Amino acid sequence: MSITAQENDRRLSINGLQKPFALYIENLTVSFDGFKAVDNLSLYVDEGEIRVIIGPNGAGKTTVLDLICGKTRASSGSIKFRDKELTRLKEHEIIEAGVGRKFQNPSIYEELTVFENLELSYPRGKGVMGTLFFKRDEALCRKVQETAETIFLGDKLHTRAGLLSHGQKQWLEIGMLLIQNPSLLMLDEPVAGMSVSERTQTAELLRKIIKGRSAIVIEHDMKFVEEIADRVTVMHQGKLLAEGSMDSVKRNRKVIDVYLGQ
Ligand code: ADP
Ligand code: MG
Repeated sequence: MSITAQENDRRLSINGLQKPFALYIENLTVSFDGFKAVDNLSLYVDEGEIRVIIGPNGAGKTTVLDLICGKTRASSGSIKFRDKELTRLKEHEIIEAGVGRKFQNPSIYEELTVFENLELSYPRGKGVMGTLFFKRDEALCRKVQETAETIFLGDKLHTRAGLLSHGQKQWLEIGMLLIQNPSLLMLDEPVAGMSVSERTQTAELLRKIIKGRSAIVIEHDMKFVEEIADRVTVMHQGKLLAEGSMDSVKRNRKVIDVYLGQ
């Protein structure tokens, strides 16, 4: 019997509720020429949860995101998201399954405005809606405006993206994900290079957009992690070192030794 079923049973008996996890990662391993960048990792993320992954450089954090979004193929193990086995899907199918990923460096179009960047990310209507231009345009404008407001760029719709601050560019990229309405958001070091106030705003932003979704965030800024994390997973040498609340992880001897104490 797989751990999936056991885990589910355990949760049902604890909660007395039908509340399965959104994301199940089980015994996930990837080797690059014999080197295991991710080594037998199991991880379960709840619906509505913000999970933060921390750990030293080279621990395998980014590789976990690569595996979830299909950029890297697992050597073994399973990744299930809302009952879909992602390890068997192509990258575009994983996106269609509701998984959205933001990379470490913003990949926005600097020459285009905030509006145009968001517009380009808006999912293309299929079938009838796609041909009803007027209706589509109306819906698109509303969605772009609403998204821009969420990411604190409501008054910057017609500003060229290249003129935004580094933090605002990061928000724009989060907006470009958000407008696709993903169910699982993955962010790799979203506040790197941001000012203190931008970090606080980003925490607020994540709290605001997490309803109805789940998120995996990789981050080194412990103050930020404390503000956003429901639970923290600590990775070291491709393996799970510790997991739990920020408080419990902070007091964990192994975590202090390999990461926090540095
Ligand atoms: P982190 O994000 O925790 O800093 P990474 O996941 O980027 O760590 O990398 C973990 C290890 O896996 C590193 O030693 C890195 O060099 C290696 N690695 C990651 N991706 C590849 C790849 N595609 N080919 C070979 N080695 C890789
Ligand atoms: Mg990384």
